[in-house]
Amino acid sequence: MRIFTAALATETNTFSPICIDRRAFEDSLYAPPGTHPQTPTLCTAPITVGRRAAAEKGWTLIEGTAAWADPAGLVNRETYEGLRDEILDQLRAAMPVDAVVLGLHGAMVAAGYIDPEGDLLTRIREIIGPDVLLCAELDPHSHLTAKRVAAADFFVVFKEFPHTDFVARAEDLWRIAVDTLEGRVKPVMSVFDCRMIDVFPTSREPMRSFVDRLTAIEAEDEDVLSLSVIHGFMAGDVPELGTKMIAVTNAKPEKGERLARKLGLELFSLRGTFMMPQIDEKEAVNRALTAPRGPVVIADMWDNPGGGTAGDSTVILEELLLRGATDVAVGMIWDPIAVQLCMAAGEGAEIPLRFGAKSAPGTGNPIDGLVEVVRVVPNAEMRFGESVAPFGDAAHIRHKGIDIVLSSVRVQSYDPSLFTALGIDPQSKRILVIKSTNHFYAAFSKIASEILYCSAGSPYPNDPATNPYRRARRDIWPMTADPHCVEVA
Ligand SMILES: [Zn+2]
Repeated sequence: MRIFTAALATETNTFSPICIDRRAFEDSLYAPPGTHPQTPTLCTAPITVGRRAAAEKGWTLIEGTAAWADPAGLVNRETYEGLRDEILDQLRAAMPVDAVVLGLHGAMVAAGYIDPEGDLLTRIREIIGPDVLLCAELDPHSHLTAKRVAAADFFVVFKEFPHTDFVARAEDLWRIAVDTLEGRVKPVMSVFDCRMIDVFPTSREPMRSFVDRLTAIEAEDEDVLSLSVIHGFMAGDVPELGTKMIAVTNAKPEKGERLARKLGLELFSLRGTFMMPQIDEKEAVNRALTAPRGPVVIADMWDNPGGGTAGDSTVILEELLLRGATDVAVGMIWDPIAVQLCMAAGEGAEIPLRFGAKSAPGTGNPIDGLVEVVRVVPNAEMRFGESVAPFGDAAHIRHKGIDIVLSSVRVQSYDPSLFTALGIDPQSKRILVIKSTNHFYAAFSKIASEILYCSAGSPYPNDPATNPYRRARRDIWPMTADPHCVEVA
């Protein structure tokens, strides 16, 4: 057997001004054929898992390019077309193949391409013909367009959010692909449109139990090869926005449709109950200041560079300054210009500085003031689980009793080590302000006396009912109260 694999992935927040060019892919991950490292980067797991799967069978794995850019705004047209054509040329050169197994994200939008993954999959199908297996792993924060469903045989989607299972799902993808190639199964994909858009953290109920049920059904029902939820991605203004339920069965399309519909309507009946409770910056600062002990962690949950925002909002910091709060550390605010100025000034210098809130509307105002440059660290990094997350050259500044970490690479606040890297002891602080929606929880919950989820300003389009969509469909909840026009318990 000859199998072609490649990866092309990013998550496009179409409201973000941080646009993506080829350099952004190269900064995150760009691996030409055969150069992909041993460890996967989220959406590239089908390549590393594929090496193992092909080796076990003695099959030939032909690796194409793997490219991943951290979430941001629109992808530059030439960048998308260049990476796409690179992969398509590699596939043409690899023909004939028995299967194509891809790592995609599924929420890319490029200039001139509202559905780049649909475009890529369709072009691949044209090259390989109707009978060669074509499958991909997807991130649930994606758009399941009709074009993609028509082009691919099946998709497997991460079940967990935070995405702790991207390797396990790539293993599912390959297991089904191998079983198909060896004639044991015939995967058929059934999709149900839940007609909703929501956010579904699996670290809490009710999504935790729902995902556990999907796993149990997969284990118990031999007709069911895989069950997935496409959560949808509300910051992507695309026509086919929304939550979808996928059932991949062993040649049982009617059963798959029934199951996808049943599970999808169940998800719909729970709409609006998935997210953690959120408070605004005034309430968050109030509660943090009156807490019996620290550190209280305030998560600036929507200014999360992991969702494509700039990560330079100052709304919570402005409120803290207004209240005269001290004994506070803020990590991080993205401001490469300010970092450069601090590095030029040197440690110990006191300088007038403008920092933050420079890149996007709805993120507060730049802070102007005299600051002390406490520490500068070239190529700073923090821990993220087993690996490290670099945040570029960084500066620790002190302003009116508040310690602030400025970074020059946009990355969400995964771990308290972002503070220690700049000489700040996070546990000695009364309040910690961080930028992350959900990924921070595992590490920060270990040191936090309390965690407050704060919705501050409007850095991210987090309310689909009022987001200024131009292309997204309106016939889904919450834009439409009852889009199924049925009584759903
Ligand atoms: Zn995601």
